Amino acid sequence: MASVTIRSESCKSCQYCVKYCPKEVLSVGKEVNSKGYQFIVALKPEDCVGCAMCAQICPEAAIEVYK
Ligand code: SF4
Ligand code: SF4
Repeated sequence: MASVTIRSESCKSCQYCVKYCPKEVLSVGKEVNSKGYQFIVALKPEDCVGCAMCAQICPEAAIEVYK
């Protein structure tokens, strides 16, 4: 099964990954990182298909996808 992990400290909350995920797996979380950004969380990790669109689009290289 595919899995996605987000390094919360690297996330700047641009939300590109949220927009580009075809399965609506990712969402803006409620917590903030040490830089004050509301980082992304995998809200529906079971729906991830491992396409890695999110990892490719992330300008901070904050996302890793395992398949
Ligand atoms: S790998 Fe694909 S399906 Fe999984 S979270 Fe990233 S964009 Fe969404
Ligand atoms: S694309 Fe990267 S930096 Fe932007 S919100 Fe997603 S994880 Fe955070």
